[in-house]
Amino acid sequence: MRGPSTRAVHGGEPRKKALDALTTPILQTSTYTFADTQELRDHFEGRIDRMEYGRYGNPTQRVAEEKLAELDGAEDGLLFSSGMAAITTTLFAMLSRGAHVVVTDDAYRRTRQFLNQTLRRFGVEVSTAPAGDYARIEEAVRSNTRLIFSESPTNPYNRVLDLEKLVAVARRKRVKTIIDSTFATPINQRPIEFGVDLVIHSATKYLGGHNDLLAGAVVGSRALVSGIRDLQGVTGAVPDPFSAYLLIRGVKTLALRVARQNDNAERIAAFLDAHPKIAHVHYPSLPSHPEHEIARRQMSGFGGVVAFEVNGDIDATSRLIDACRIPRIAPSLGGVESLIEQPALMSFYELTTEERLKVGIKDNLVRYAVGIEDGDDLIADLEQALEQV
Ligand SMILES: *Cc1c(COP(=O)(O)O)cnc(C)c1O
Repeated sequence: MRGPSTRAVHGGEPRKKALDALTTPILQTSTYTFADTQELRDHFEGRIDRMEYGRYGNPTQRVAEEKLAELDGAEDGLLFSSGMAAITTTLFAMLSRGAHVVVTDDAYRRTRQFLNQTLRRFGVEVSTAPAGDYARIEEAVRSNTRLIFSESPTNPYNRVLDLEKLVAVARRKRVKTIIDSTFATPINQRPIEFGVDLVIHSATKYLGGHNDLLAGAVVGSRALVSGIRDLQGVTGAVPDPFSAYLLIRGVKTLALRVARQNDNAERIAAFLDAHPKIAHVHYPSLPSHPEHEIARRQMSGFGGVVAFEVNGDIDATSRLIDACRIPRIAPSLGGVESLIEQPALMSFYELTTEERLKVGIKDNLVRYAVGIEDGDDLIADLEQALEQV
């Protein structure tokens, strides 16, 4: 198997392209024409392989899908209009009324909301188990459990699941596993190689990498992805061809960007860990991180998101964020520009402090999603900002 950088550049792309173009063209069309009724018959009876209508696929989208599948070492992939579209369509395809899901506790807010509110309305049962407690995860599995869903690393605390242990539990219990691997990217971690059934990415983040597109992806076996593709053709959360093109373009530099982001984040984590105004840093390179050893074994880099707690209240934490001159205040992560946010005042704004604490979000928590700027500049900037706390 070729290395991840080679796969990022060439994966999924045929050597011979339309009109001998080097890059994959944007096929900006909503539908595809049939020469005659015979061709239509040949298509529906599977004698020829071709496109039919935009909701069922597009050649630019197809190249992006094959590139992402190759990067994760999966048989097939499917692209969506957003990460949440990938998560919701995949879960709708895998579950029916009466089914049960086990989800680990630290997870993207909208994923939790979809599981605990939307899917519950359709008669799907959901149990939450602590990330990192495999006995509790196993205990949560029932006779009607269909799948275990987890992020790794998790958002925002960077908890790392031991994928070998998770897959062992799932196999004993004959349930499927889904990992949202957005924080890791296929450069730092490839869950398929550990036996995970489906891997989901918000391609809006590192894969696109330039804060200029929304997309999501699921990769896995041909059989599982095919079932999800059929449902996508019904529910319609498809990416547009231009976003698919931007994603292909972004992924070509994925390995370079992620290497720089790993490096910047690791340096920032070490700097903050030693700073008297910082109470705690949640980053897997640090020996204080609960899954430091697992991350070292399972990942080839620790990722670009550093979560940390300021020694101070909600306002002191805001002062630090407001004093930063390089990272911009914005939701999202994974792009070339550094972004910083206080989850209590961004994703969880409408909740009270008590409600936030129940879901594990502290008022003094900061999520710093590092970009590809010079690490020295990012650290010098944090240093001057911390003087304002
Ligand atoms: C952003 C994110 C999502 C949702 O992706 P969108 O592209 O914003 O819909 C899901 N999971 C994780 C871990 C994320 O960071």
